Amino acid sequence: MRPIRTFNVTPALPPRLAGLKKLAYNLQWDWDVDTIELFRRLDPDLWESSHYNPVLMLGMINQQRLQAIADDEGFVAQADRAVQRLDDYLSERTWHHRNRPQSDECYAYFSMEFGLTSCMPVYSGGLGVLAGDHLKSASDLGLPLVGVGLLYQEGYFAQYFNADGWQQERYPVNDFYNMPLELERDDQGSEMRIAVEYPGRTVYARIWRVQVGTVPLYLLDTNIEPNNQYDQDICDRLYGGDIDMRIHQEIMLGIGGVRMLEALGLKPTAYHMNEGHSAFLALERIRRFMERDGLAYPEALQMAASSQIFTTHTPVPAGIDLFSSDKILYYLGRYARKFGLSDDEFLALGREDTGDLSTPFSMAVLAIKTASFVNGVSQLHGAVSREMFGGLWQDLPQAEVPITAITNGVHARSCVAKSTQELYDRYLGPNWSQAGAKDDLWERVQSIPDEELWRNHELCRSQLVKYARSHLQKSLLERDAAPTEVAKAAEILDPAVLTIGFARRFATYKRATLFLHDLDRIRKIITGDGQRRQRVQFVIAGKAHPKDIPGKELIRSIIHFTRDKGLDSSIVFVPNYDIHIARAMVAGADIWLNNPRRPREASGTSGMKAAMNGLLNLSVLDGWWDEADYVRTGWAIGSGEEYDDPDYQDEVEANALYELIEKEVVPLFYDRDENDIPRGWVAKMKDAIYLNTPRFNTSRMVKEYARRAYFMVSDRLHQLRADQYAPAKELAAWHTHLSEHWYDMKIKAIDIAAPSALQVNETFNVQAKIALGQLSPEDLLVELYQGTVQVDGEMHTGISIAMDYQGQDADGNSLYAAEMQYVTSGLQGLSLRLLPRHRYLHSSLEPRLILWANPEAVAINMTSSIPDVPPTPAASQA
Ligand SMILES: *Cc1c(COP(=O)(O)O)cnc(C)c1O
Repeated sequence: MRPIRTFNVTPALPPRLAGLKKLAYNLQWDWDVDTIELFRRLDPDLWESSHYNPVLMLGMINQQRLQAIADDEGFVAQADRAVQRLDDYLSERTWHHRNRPQSDECYAYFSMEFGLTSCMPVYSGGLGVLAGDHLKSASDLGLPLVGVGLLYQEGYFAQYFNADGWQQERYPVNDFYNMPLELERDDQGSEMRIAVEYPGRTVYARIWRVQVGTVPLYLLDTNIEPNNQYDQDICDRLYGGDIDMRIHQEIMLGIGGVRMLEALGLKPTAYHMNEGHSAFLALERIRRFMERDGLAYPEALQMAASSQIFTTHTPVPAGIDLFSSDKILYYLGRYARKFGLSDDEFLALGREDTGDLSTPFSMAVLAIKTASFVNGVSQLHGAVSREMFGGLWQDLPQAEVPITAITNGVHARSCVAKSTQELYDRYLGPNWSQAGAKDDLWERVQSIPDEELWRNHELCRSQLVKYARSHLQKSLLERDAAPTEVAKAAEILDPAVLTIGFARRFATYKRATLFLHDLDRIRKIITGDGQRRQRVQFVIAGKAHPKDIPGKELIRSIIHFTRDKGLDSSIVFVPNYDIHIARAMVAGADIWLNNPRRPREASGTSGMKAAMNGLLNLSVLDGWWDEADYVRTGWAIGSGEEYDDPDYQDEVEANALYELIEKEVVPLFYDRDENDIPRGWVAKMKDAIYLNTPRFNTSRMVKEYARRAYFMVSDRLHQLRADQYAPAKELAAWHTHLSEHWYDMKIKAIDIAAPSALQVNETFNVQAKIALGQLSPEDLLVELYQGTVQVDGEMHTGISIAMDYQGQDADGNSLYAAEMQYVTSGLQGLSLRLLPRHRYLHSSLEPRLILWANPEAVAINMTSSIPDVPPTPAASQA
């Protein structure tokens, strides 16, 4: 029966407990261990059964219990303190305030998913958790940042298994009214709505807000009338549906997101695209600059790009969102007409090779072409991205491709166990969670008594064991497993045994079954070859994408192996990996294992969470681990090799893994003193804590985004829009002129005044004669480029030396000169290149134009000295 009317009924909190509602609706509770404790104390069973959702819990708790609690002075005092802490947190003077005191900035952070807390299942994995941690640290730092995303009715799937160990998916429906969400309303109190045009119709969305400390996260929801069923389903499932559904979602995120910010009265000065899903936002922003501010397309493009930031997360071309040309034209062709572009000119925004009309439209390319700052998520991934996207800067040496790296991090207060946080607070002081690597407090790690650190860690391990047992029992009961099986689950794992944790998406490149490469050997490792004080156990978790059959087969093969060998109490697969399970695992294991095929793990973050809890990482040198201190804070599997033969690689790396476990990990872990403390292990734990916590922390990461990207693009936006956009217009006109005439320039002659037998550090002069055509010396940087010549006859890296403008010769050629020398011996090369220059450019690489001297077309004169150039009137202009 359909209701004639619906009401959102909220609990009647006794006045003394009114503060609980305020706490429940600000996710700051998620990283305040005392507030979590407060909710748990309210009703421990309900806290668990509500899936750690305080809003749902407050809605379900019975009125008698609330009354009893309201009379409990101790509880009320604890609640009052929690509210006071939240108020203090929200009004703190912050890092941002100290660094940008006068700013009226706003940074919009767009992401397809956000992983904030387990009761908000609108994330699938690492990308979402990173976005969630970004918002939390932005709040800690007081950044004027807002999140933009979609609110999914069903979110990502919940995982369970059939009796054969085959993954099944369930899509629990999110009840928005019982989640920490609030609808945005207009002045009249009606739901605020935005509208986005799709072919032949308009789709509407309402706006929900999640408050993350000081940072609001706005989520669009199309699940409303009068949208038709298909359009309502745009916000049905994260990464669900086919390619058409995907494009619908990305239009809503990018275009709808920009409209939503406007409807909310926000005026962002930076637009951060977390992965390419949101890149359509560029189209909408260009359109708005044209319609609202009367800019021409090139000017509007310049304005949009001046304030956009793109973070890429994938190290493989297959991971990039691609759409066919006809889909792009069908869904977004109206933007081409608005911009006055032909279809191919429009599609070129998403093509690396604009001349190849058969290539699909890449969201990553669109994002790069419309951004002023582009980065990968670890140093290694930065290099991989420069290679992957290097084609966009044709002829530029790969090392100079302007894609930088900002290594990911994790939010410390969200991933370190409660008791461990309290231990750190006690010995390091409360600032440890945000302190930089140079802070003195890290020296105090050595003052934590070994015994205390170890006992605390043992407590975390036994909590993990307890959690795994009850979690597994519950899921067995849900699928009506045999009582003996359920009973057995109560005895899995041993709280005293060396525990290896492995949890991540079951994509094949992550090689979750590498440790099963040699079944006899791993069996021997697990059973300690009969010695109790040698044993090893595994706790494993992770989901395979519903369509990833090979991924599901990996999970099943682990489950089958454990059953067949009778090892099901030493290798435990914990179903339905989520933020909550992750927190238990990264706190309670001893070793965090990661063995992807390098370089396919862009960063990886679960190992960072583990390190902050004092776990030691055992990992292939990929992603973040490649730049960590992998000698002192864990072990490296291999030494960063990349292989062509995957079977051979598995063989070598599985063997390396076994060797490390047998010869290093197990002996160190079980080497105990008379108090049963593994002193050597604990020393390594301390190294893991103080060397990794400050570096792989979102506090460091968000500061880096702020300093290197948000402040820069905000300044640039302000600069370009001054005086009715005069600078933007100047830059756009200059850029059009430059592009038209760039390749008309000719490097005619280069005179090199060097002896044929040149010595290290011997200086010599070089002079160049260039016909600039329609361009003028102010438009250009002229550089000599020198580097070692490799076996293939090319210079792959080198350094550049600016040449000085000397004036013009009688034929109107521009003359340039520089002095140079080589500081290394061997076969060294020399070349010359031209790059664009303009006062409003952020970098000379931004126009993606470069012109090199062509060895076949340039007259090279080796002379012993260069005659002085007679000064001309043009020289004084330069
Ligand atoms: C941290 C985390 C991830 C990301 O882990 P990776 O090491 O990057 O694979 C995925 N899912 C959850 C629930 C997490 O907490």
